[in-house]
Amino acid sequence: YTGKTALNFISERIEKIKVSKVKSVPVVVDENTSVYDAIVTLMVEDVGTLFVTSDGFLSGIISRKDFLKNAIGGIDLNRIPVGMIMTRMPNIIVTFSNDSILEAASNIIEHEIDCLPVVEEVRTEKGEKKFKVVGRISKTTITRIFVELGKDI
Ligand code: ADP
Repeated sequence: YTGKTALNFISERIEKIKVSKVKSVPVVVDENTSVYDAIVTLMVEDVGTLFVTSDGFLSGIISRKDFLKNAIGGIDLNRIPVGMIMTRMPNIIVTFSNDSILEAASNIIEHEIDCLPVVEEVRTEKGEKKFKVVGRISKTTITRIFVELGKDI
């Protein structure tokens, strides 16, 4: 590769990788799910973050620290729904299938979070803009790409 540094080479490769190509399956719970059941889901599905939906559309995100904070705060895990303790829309950082993985990774670093929901914008019957959750990009996704690129060079 004529005169280009290895880093140039890597950054060009990363910019071309689309979110759609590397996304993984999202783990989703409804807003009305109890905090207890959500913690069980987190463990069974072996993820650190759950995406939360209301009527099937993205309404929030809940992570390990959210659960720990509320657990030591002494809430009734069986009676409180995740909707009450999650980080809520519109404060959710999302990514789209067509974004580059570099953009997604930059957002993860900039906002100091572990993962992003991959979403599609849809219009409801009432004409409201909502997000359908179609995937997940996590720090693990980024690390896997890093390893694959490293093996390739
Ligand atoms: P952990 O709790 O395992 O450290 P994060 O660092 O991802 O996980 O979460 C830190 C905080 O940011 C939590 O309150 C969580 O609800 C919130 N959060 C996680 N992901 C997102 C996101 N994509 N957009 C907005 N907030 C998020």
